[in-house]
Amino acid sequence: MIPLSVPHLSGNEWKYLKECLDTQWVSSVGPFVDRFEKEIAEYVGSKYAVAVVNGTSALHMALQIAGVQENDEVLVSDLTFVASVNSILYCNAKPVFMDVDYTSCQMDSKKVEAFLTEECEKTPDGLCRNKKTGRIIKVLMPVHILGFSAEIDSLITVAKRFNIKVVEDSAEGLGVRFYDKHVGTFGDLGILSFNGNKIITCGGGGIILTNDASYADRAKYLTTQAKNDPIEFDHNEMGYNYRLTNIQAALGVAQLEQLQGFVESKLKIAKNYEENLKMNPFINFPKPLAGTIPTYWMYTILVNFSEFGRKRQEIIKELIDRKIGVRPFWKPAHTLKYLSGFQSYRIENTIKLYENGICLPCSVNLTPEDQKRVCETLNSLIKT
Ligand SMILES: *Cc1c(COP(=O)(O)O)cnc(C)c1O
Repeated sequence: MIPLSVPHLSGNEWKYLKECLDTQWVSSVGPFVDRFEKEIAEYVGSKYAVAVVNGTSALHMALQIAGVQENDEVLVSDLTFVASVNSILYCNAKPVFMDVDYTSCQMDSKKVEAFLTEECEKTPDGLCRNKKTGRIIKVLMPVHILGFSAEIDSLITVAKRFNIKVVEDSAEGLGVRFYDKHVGTFGDLGILSFNGNKIITCGGGGIILTNDASYADRAKYLTTQAKNDPIEFDHNEMGYNYRLTNIQAALGVAQLEQLQGFVESKLKIAKNYEENLKMNPFINFPKPLAGTIPTYWMYTILVNFSEFGRKRQEIIKELIDRKIGVRPFWKPAHTLKYLSGFQSYRIENTIKLYENGICLPCSVNLTPEDQKRVCETLNSLIKT
């Protein structure tokens, strides 16, 4: 089986892990945690970075720090991994689903603006109220997917105009820049994930990015059980045990050293796929927005299934039967049963993308032979 995306552990992982074991720094503080936070912050150009157990908990904390409270609303992309939405529910807040742009697959800033203009009003204290639900919209959560950037400059401008904070879900975005700036550093807060399928991995891990010192302090505090005093076990509020361990951070530090090579490899795979699939009349490709420096973290094709005349589900099954580990896009969040009670706004493209999208194997160490087999199999299954 050619897997969809697996980690590539070819650097100092063993060495740094051994260092953890030899020094007995294995738990939730240690030199690798400090180093990982510092090196990620430097790499992305964020003043602060607070390491946590995973990307989902990073989102949960970022929303809470941005001021999301019970019954507030958060605008989020409909086309995303469910973790984005769950982090909103963890705050007892409500998601409102926004459509994406068909070409880039990223949150559609025009529709966000239309929603805020047509469906919302300003409260006497300057907040943004959803007229239909009466709830306050506290945060806009764009999700940078596929190793591309969302139209983050326009989104930030719109959010500012309506007095809404921005939390960027850049879980998939390490290495991605929009013009000269790294994704996750535009908004009030951003996050990265280091899960096994991401471009670098800690096994599991995440990080909160912010340029605001008080947010960074609050992130450290909340993720450390809200402990007030270094000696006394004194706590003013409910905290969380969300810290990354030194072992995980050691993996992360070793992986980060190899990131540049990983990105180059992803870009090479993307180029090769495009060259070998572009003659196919049914296959198209999501395109990064102008100004994006992409990583092509998850290589995805869009098949015109209605013209081709077969179902996406059948083709995916046939590819998996041929031992090619493809995946569909996430189901549009608003169609998930447990999320059906929440509002969505003019969702069109997310549904089409879900119908047409297929994610292809794109591990960093995917061989040219495997890439060739993927393309040949696709071209033999999807043809006139
Ligand atoms: C991976 C991912 C997350 C969650 O990260 P974990 O580290 O797996 O918790 C959140 N959002 C998006 C878009 C992701 O791809």
